[in-house]
Amino acid sequence: MSEKFEERSQPEEPEKFYPTQHLKVYQTSDAGQLLICECRHCLTPLSIDVIFLTPQNSKPRPKNKPDTQQDDVMKCPSCGRVPIFLEGCSVQSIAQLPSSPWK
Ligand SMILES: [Zn+2]
Repeated sequence: MSEKFEERSQPEEPEKFYPTQHLKVYQTSDAGQLLICECRHCLTPLSIDVIFLTPQNSKPRPKNKPDTQQDDVMKCPSCGRVPIFLEGCSVQSIAQLPSSPWK
């Protein structure tokens, strides 16, 4: 019995081209959105509060406030890795959902 069923001809996709991820987006305010998604690593359902950065709310921060907070916030509560790559928005909080909307 062979377990090697890896004869797919598809080339391995580069890291930046990540597979389709479940995502629901709810507008919570002018710039605020609630993202419901699954961690791309462990598929934990997550609720992510984000603020989309606009010229109005993304003024340069003072130097005594290093802009490293997002790295800390942007972690899957379950596996500790970055659950989803977001651009142009600031993560306010991440919460683990008790159940996935896609199950
Ligand atoms: Zn995870």
